[in-house]
Amino acid sequence: MKKMFIGGQWMTAHDERTLPVVSPVDGQAYDDIPRGAAHEIDLAVDAARRALDDGAWGRMTATERGRVLHGIGKKLLDHVDELTEIEARDTGKPLATARNDIVVLARYFEFYGAAADKVHGEVIPFQNGHHVSLLREPLGVTAHIIPWNYPAQMIGRTIAPALAMGNATVLKPAEDTSLSALRFAELATEAGLPAGALNVVTGLGEEAGAALAAHPGIDLISFTGSNEVGTLVQQAAARNAVKCVLELGGKSPQIVFADADLDRAVPIIVKAIIQNAGQTCTAGSRLLVEQGAFDAVVERVAQVFAKVRVGTPAMDLDCGPLMNPAQLARVNRYIDAARAAGVPVLAQGRIADGVPSGGYYARPTLFGPVPRTDALACEEVFGPVLAAMPFADEADAIALANGTPYGLLAAVWSENAGRAYRVAKAVRAGQVFVNCYGAGGGVELPFGGTKRSGHGREKGLLALEELSSTKTLVHFHG
Ligand code: NAD
Repeated sequence: MKKMFIGGQWMTAHDERTLPVVSPVDGQAYDDIPRGAAHEIDLAVDAARRALDDGAWGRMTATERGRVLHGIGKKLLDHVDELTEIEARDTGKPLATARNDIVVLARYFEFYGAAADKVHGEVIPFQNGHHVSLLREPLGVTAHIIPWNYPAQMIGRTIAPALAMGNATVLKPAEDTSLSALRFAELATEAGLPAGALNVVTGLGEEAGAALAAHPGIDLISFTGSNEVGTLVQQAAARNAVKCVLELGGKSPQIVFADADLDRAVPIIVKAIIQNAGQTCTAGSRLLVEQGAFDAVVERVAQVFAKVRVGTPAMDLDCGPLMNPAQLARVNRYIDAARAAGVPVLAQGRIADGVPSGGYYARPTLFGPVPRTDALACEEVFGPVLAAMPFADEADAIALANGTPYGLLAAVWSENAGRAYRVAKAVRAGQVFVNCYGAGGGVELPFGGTKRSGHGREKGLLALEELSSTKTLVHFHG
């Protein structure tokens, strides 16, 4: 049985309740985590506040914080094999993908460790006799609620910049995937992170998560997950006038013009929907193709798509199982509904022989042409399902790309640089890639949504602004 980490102590829930840890690979429970709730969230927020007010963490200089973060990055790389195993078993993803996630987690700590003492304030010209400085300060206690699709990467993305800015953090990992967060807390402590700077409370979203979002002692909430829960979190934060960074869903378009370099585009387009079995907020889930090239392009994509293989982490194929039975049922519901509506299936990947019968494996499916009103054209499936649709011209491509409630990522594929730039400018999304795609990639690259995909920015140096506050200091010196 695992314990959670609060104020530098490992503990069970006060009422000893637990939750099973179930592997998506075979549907079997193999461990337990504490079912923390409001009581444990109170303890964690209190521990974080004390770390800032009376603890070693609050006294550290920015340079010292940077050193600790760098040490964490190194520690993580020293344990990359062990962490890879934990993450692969917890999420079901292929070993190579899990390993990459751990390397990215470490990279976040390297990047923000190096940035910690390079965040400066400003001096503002003002009336004679006054010196005005704009100080950049930590917000205080920051709350972080993360989903199950990239548990390790999400820890790095949200916790590393928060710590770099000197906040004390409370992390609520997803109930399906808490193990990497717990081992991470242990390693971070060994690397010198003082007690209370990071607190990890495991438990259900509607219990521990809701208690954290509603807690009057937090100064910011960073939430990554579904739109439904994002709305609840924002409502809870509003009652305490707490700032929110929300990273929600996506329905990201791959916009392919007839002059695209298909040798380059096709493998990247397939990977962008297959990666993590499509359980990626930035999955390229819509393939929009210029009408005259539609048949030729989808034929090329179908050939690669049909070769996709799904298996266990140890098989190390293109993707693993889905996260849980609800997720499998959801994805199959979309596939069955589209088939029943007569939407043509252009290709399907295969589930490898020998996968355990209790696992949550879905067949990757390419549909097209998908009617613009079909659920597959505008709703987030969060699975390995790609919807191909033709467009008439540049204006139609832009209208189609912008025609969902989401606006997270987009890609434009064209050898015409002027057109690629015009379309990239017109698409509403937080990141747009031209002749490339970076689903979730790029620690250095500011990332976040427009429209219903959320607001606020993570990654890159902009994350440090989100996770800090300014104070305008006006000093009259005569
Ligand atoms: P989810 O919203 O169900 O859960 C996310 C987290 O919120 C979990 O830790 C969960 O325990 C917690 N939670 C659940 N109910 C809560 C409540 N009432 N109050 C507070 N916290 C609560 O999402 P999920 O199913 O884990 O993840 C899938 C969704 O996340 C997809 O829509 C996906 O697009 C989105 N996502 C977005 C990004 C991004 O960066 N934009 C990244 C990953 C996932």
